[in-house]
Amino acid sequence: MNVPPVPPAVTLPVHGSADRFPVRRIFCVGRNYAEHSREMGGDPTREAPFFFTKPADAVVISGATIPYPPKTADLHHEAELVVAIGKGGADIALADASAHIWGHAAGNDLTRRDLQAEAKAARRPWDMAKGFDNSAVIGALHAGPLPDAAITCTVDGRVTQSARLSDMIWSVPEIIAHLSGYVTLQAGDLIFTGTPAGVGPIGRGQTCTVAIEGLSPVTVTLA
Ligand code: MN
Repeated sequence: MNVPPVPPAVTLPVHGSADRFPVRRIFCVGRNYAEHSREMGGDPTREAPFFFTKPADAVVISGATIPYPPKTADLHHEAELVVAIGKGGADIALADASAHIWGHAAGNDLTRRDLQAEAKAARRPWDMAKGFDNSAVIGALHAGPLPDAAITCTVDGRVTQSARLSDMIWSVPEIIAHLSGYVTLQAGDLIFTGTPAGVGPIGRGQTCTVAIEGLSPVTVTLA
């Protein structure tokens, strides 16, 4: 019996270029804005950054219409800055972390909130709440550094999340330094850096847009 064909590479569009950025792995930071940590029942003053993952083939390109995911009645949006790693490394020093960044994109960490609540209550993993098909919505990547910027999320034009990237509990260099202590980062890895307060549901037929100043907005529509 023949083995299956090699799957196509997952890539992201690059703003202002015909190049495509190859996606290797997707890491995500939990509870990285104080107000969101509180709204999820956490204590932002005491928690070190923690991480979960999504499979690379969960990527959705901006403008797509996706089916409402199965096994949930409470699909939530999470507006996030996505950092693309251009140079790998382990135990990256804080002072060196920015040199490992290739660029940035706006992202939406789609979450089956009801499954996440069940997993938390049962002390089970978050994989099926976070790492499902079409759960990593990511806009075009912009190369280079990104200064502090506003981040907003709208559902059918209504603003649901509004914050500044500087509101993050752990900065992007701190995230890279921490994460690279757990895994050896590789070029092509992406990091969702956490979401501000105001997460909420997206229903069938609704369009959700995440906008970050200086980056291309990212839009997804639920069929
Ligand atoms: Mn998130």
